[in-house]
Amino acid sequence: FPVERIRNFSIIAHIDHGKSTLADRLLEITGAIAKTASNKQVLDKLQVERERGITVKAQTASLFYQHEGQTYLLNLIDTPGHVDFSYEVSRSISACQGVLLIVDANQGIQAQTVANFYLAFEAQLTIIPVINKIDLKNADPERVEKQIEKVFDIPKEECIRISAKLGTNVDQVLQEVVRRIPPPTAKVEGPFKALVFDSNFDHYRGVVANIALFGGRVSRGDKIVSAHLGKSYEVNELGLLRPDEHPAETLYAGQVGYVIAGMKEVKEAQIGDTLYLQKQPVEPLPGFKPAKAMVFAGMYPMDQSEYTALRSAVEKLTLNDSSVTVQRDSSLALGAGWRLGFLGLLHMEVFNQRLEQEYNASVIVTAPTVPYKAVLASAKLIKEHGEEVITIINPAQFPDKSQVVEYLEPMVMGTIIAPDDFTGKIMTLCQSRRAVHKNMFYIDDHRVMIKYIFPLNEIVVDFYDQLKSMSSGYASFDYEDAGYEAADLIKMDFLLNGRPVEELATIVHKDKAYSAGKAICERLKESIPRQMFEIAVQAAIGSKIIARETIKAYRKNVLAKCYGGDITRKMKLLKKQAEGKKKLRRIGNIDVPKDAFINVLKRK
Ligand code: GDP
Ligand code: MG
Repeated sequence: FPVERIRNFSIIAHIDHGKSTLADRLLEITGAIAKTASNKQVLDKLQVERERGITVKAQTASLFYQHEGQTYLLNLIDTPGHVDFSYEVSRSISACQGVLLIVDANQGIQAQTVANFYLAFEAQLTIIPVINKIDLKNADPERVEKQIEKVFDIPKEECIRISAKLGTNVDQVLQEVVRRIPPPTAKVEGPFKALVFDSNFDHYRGVVANIALFGGRVSRGDKIVSAHLGKSYEVNELGLLRPDEHPAETLYAGQVGYVIAGMKEVKEAQIGDTLYLQKQPVEPLPGFKPAKAMVFAGMYPMDQSEYTALRSAVEKLTLNDSSVTVQRDSSLALGAGWRLGFLGLLHMEVFNQRLEQEYNASVIVTAPTVPYKAVLASAKLIKEHGEEVITIINPAQFPDKSQVVEYLEPMVMGTIIAPDDFTGKIMTLCQSRRAVHKNMFYIDDHRVMIKYIFPLNEIVVDFYDQLKSMSSGYASFDYEDAGYEAADLIKMDFLLNGRPVEELATIVHKDKAYSAGKAICERLKESIPRQMFEIAVQAAIGSKIIARETIKAYRKNVLAKCYGGDITRKMKLLKKQAEGKKKLRRIGNIDVPKDAFINVLKRK
């Protein structure tokens, strides 16, 4: 296929602005899928994606499009819309020459619109602004065009107004993709060189890598090498994604497709890696920033007898998601398990949900923690650890103050976009999260973009939920890495009748310890059902108790209800109670609902 008639592009947008809907429409217009109701959001494959309405893993489709009597090959790469997955956006973007930047005609520019715009802008891609949902009653495309001019410096004449839902002007989008986005500069004559921009694990065939060919060609039976590990493989299968796999004999420069070459783990086809022919080595493409875990948590089987089954489930899931980091871990209270690293809290929740849904696993998840650092105080300690600055991803390994020069905490630059009526409230919220104000900018007459530097741990759990509810859903939020800063940190424990609750041990800022300890004790009291004896709920720093609540005794006798009743009813009740027990975790002689721990971390 002639390179001049290839276009590689992505759709980027704030969540819910209509990426998946537009992608479906583009697939329909080009005949890649039939136009039926059951095909809604074909590119969102995973069950969790459909349930949560988010795109977790990027999917790709090659479309054939007729334009002015010529056939064009349009390679569309769908991207995730949530801030946790922004690294997936940047990786797919580097396989493209242009993007469609979707903005909702009612909501206008949101925080992730801005973040995604800069990813595309910095990659020097052609940006086509598309205003979607013009069919909505409250649509105000004119206002959105002004915002686009003001914030992105793109003339409003370049905006395309569409309704992805109704199909209005969607064909015009494809015409503009052909007209405005340049073809890839790949040369077919050169040596084979391809970028791996995504990879999936398939139980039968091993790793399926999605690649963009920057030069040359590759055929079935070729010997290829992945630059990162230097291992070589034989190509078993390759082809186009339309969006289903269409095997081919050869892929050519400028094309996007898949390749299967006997790789057994996604690690062998790392995102950002370069593939080349064994007989024709090339200089690897400039690599990506590898995905960086921002949130860590311990995961343990509810029952140690389920350890082996859970290990196999965790292994299978991480085979498919190279952005999850895994370390073995064990604790006296929870037994053998893992400490897993995630891109963000949503990523962690999605992982957990998949474990439970797809592998029927029952897991205990500890309080999430961000990667703190400590600068060690003595030469002896430095020698012991092999480094001067250690990273702490587990509160159990928090070094004592006497051992460190200083603690450091990860920071992020947060962007909030909201109607200006909420400015005051938002600033109060940010200040309560130890944030430092950076700047404020009006994106139109009524909306502001506010920037703050936040400690990452202050926004990880419930910041976005609070921001949303205080602004009646109007505020949006996104953040990016902003390095480390010194902080006065301490480790806090929670105790039930004197026994520590492993999953709640947490690292907090000194100024926040009392209020956080008190609030979590109160919420624990609410979520632990009364038992036959009194329970003391305490927060402690070292041996010092800083907060306490008491859960009064209560005798719960399920059989009392059917006194004199028939035996089958009694048996049913007992069975029901036994089933309920499976969701309980025993600490000492106290039964605690398993979800209680993660819930008490969330402020209401
Ligand atoms: P994504 O998160 O960007 O992939 O957004 P989706 O494509 O999942 O769309 C989010 C919601 O907006 C869904 O309920 C869609 O049906 C709806 N939607 C998408 N495009 C349009 C449109 O043009 N008009 C209207 N009224 N709704 C739309
Ligand atoms: Mg979507």
